[in-house]
Amino acid sequence: MTMDHVDALECTLCGAEYDPDQVIYTCPEHEGVKGILEVTYDYDVVHDRFDAPLDGVVDSQWKYAAFLPVHDDAEVVTLDEGGTDLFDAPNLSDALGVETLVKDDGRNPTGCFKDRASSIAVTKAKHAGRDVVTCASTGNAAASLAGYAARGGLDARIFVPGDAPTGKLAQPLVYGADVLAVDGSYDEAYDLSVDVTDEYGWYNRNAAINPFQVEGKRTVGHELAGQTSARGDVPDWLVFSMGDGCTIAGAWKGFREFRDLGYVDDAPKMLGVQATGASSIHDAFHGHDDVDDVADTLADSIAVGRPRNTVKACRALEESGGTALLVDDDDILDAQTLLGRTEGIYSEPAGATALAGLQRALAEDVVERDETVVVCSTGFGLKDTESALDATDGVTAIDPRMEDVRDLYGSAE
Ligand SMILES: *Cc1c(COP(=O)(O)O)cnc(C)c1O
Ligand SMILES: [Zn+2]
Repeated sequence: MTMDHVDALECTLCGAEYDPDQVIYTCPEHEGVKGILEVTYDYDVVHDRFDAPLDGVVDSQWKYAAFLPVHDDAEVVTLDEGGTDLFDAPNLSDALGVETLVKDDGRNPTGCFKDRASSIAVTKAKHAGRDVVTCASTGNAAASLAGYAARGGLDARIFVPGDAPTGKLAQPLVYGADVLAVDGSYDEAYDLSVDVTDEYGWYNRNAAINPFQVEGKRTVGHELAGQTSARGDVPDWLVFSMGDGCTIAGAWKGFREFRDLGYVDDAPKMLGVQATGASSIHDAFHGHDDVDDVADTLADSIAVGRPRNTVKACRALEESGGTALLVDDDDILDAQTLLGRTEGIYSEPAGATALAGLQRALAEDVVERDETVVVCSTGFGLKDTESALDATDGVTAIDPRMEDVRDLYGSAE
C-alpha cells in the first residue's frame, strides 16, 4: 500500500499540505473549488524508481509509471494510452515558414488526450474501492472516462451540457455510461458533478479539482522531452489549446521535471491558445481584471467560461517564459483544414486551435521564424464532423457519366 514517491497534496493558494492517501479534491480553506491542490513528489525516490531508457520509444504512458501518483499495489486500468507519434511536418512547415512538428494525441484510445488522465482516475477510483465514477464534460472527458470505466468494470455517470455535439454523446453511451444532458452550460454541469460527489461519494474525475488528473497529463511532457531530445534538440515552443487549463499545466510540469532531473538540457516556452469567445485564462494571464465568463466558440472542448485551473495554467506560461493568445473560430476552421490537407492529420476544432495559435503567433512575431515548434493536436476530428464539413467547400455533386468528370478536370490528354 505504498506511494513513497508522492510527498503531499499542496494547496496552490495557501500552501497547506494534505495526505495524498486520502480521497480529497480541493483545499477546504477556500470557498467552492478554488483551492486547487498540486501533487508534490520526492524526486530522489522518483529518480531511483525510473529506469526506462530516454530513447523516444514509448508504447504507453505507463513507461513513466515511476512518475505517476498511483499506489504500488494498484491494478492499473489501461488501454495503452499515450505513446502517440511526434510527426515531422514538412508540408505544414513550408506553408507556415517555420519548422513545425505535430504531436498527434488524437490517436489515443478514445480519440483524445484525456485518456492519459482517465487511466489514472479509474485506476485510483478502483484502488480507493469506489464503484461509480463521474465527471462533467463538454464531450471528450465523458467519452474517455466512460471507456476506462468500462475497461475497469466500474459504472460511469456523466454530466454534459445539453448542446454537446451528438457524435461525442454516442461514444460514452456505447461504452455503457449514463449520460445526463444538463439543460444548461458546461459550467452548470460542472457544479452538479461536484454536488453529486459530495452527496453520493462517487469518484470525481474532473481534471481541475481532482489533483491526480493533471498528473496523468504530465506524460505528454515526458514523452515530448524524450521524443524531441532523441531527435537532437528540445523545441523552442510547445503549443496547446486551453479549456480548463489542466492540459497545458500537465504538459509543462512533465517537461520541466525532466529538465530539472537533468534528463534533458532545456525546456520549451509554452504557448497557450484560447478561442476569442472563451478567453478567461488568456485574460487572467495578461492581467485583465474584468474576466468575462461567457463561452462562445465552435471548439466545444475548450468552450469553458470559468476555467478551474487558471492558476496552474498561468504558472506554466510564466515559468516557461511563454504566453497566451486568442484565435477566432474562423482561424480554427482554417487551421483544421490546413493540417488535414498538408499532413493528413485530422484534428477536432479544439485540437486545431493550437495550430491556429501558432499562425497568430507568427503573424505577431511572438514566435520567430528561426525557432522550432511542436504543435499538439489534442483530439481526433471524427468526433465532430459537422463543424468540420462547414470548414470545407463540401462535396461536388455529379451525374454518373464521364462528361461530368471531364467538365471538372478537362479531357485526359
Ligand atoms: C479538454 C480538451 C482540451 C483542453 O484541455 P484543458 O485541460 O481543459 O485545458 C483541448 N483539446 C481537447 C481535444 C480537449 O478534449
Ligand atoms: Zn488552501
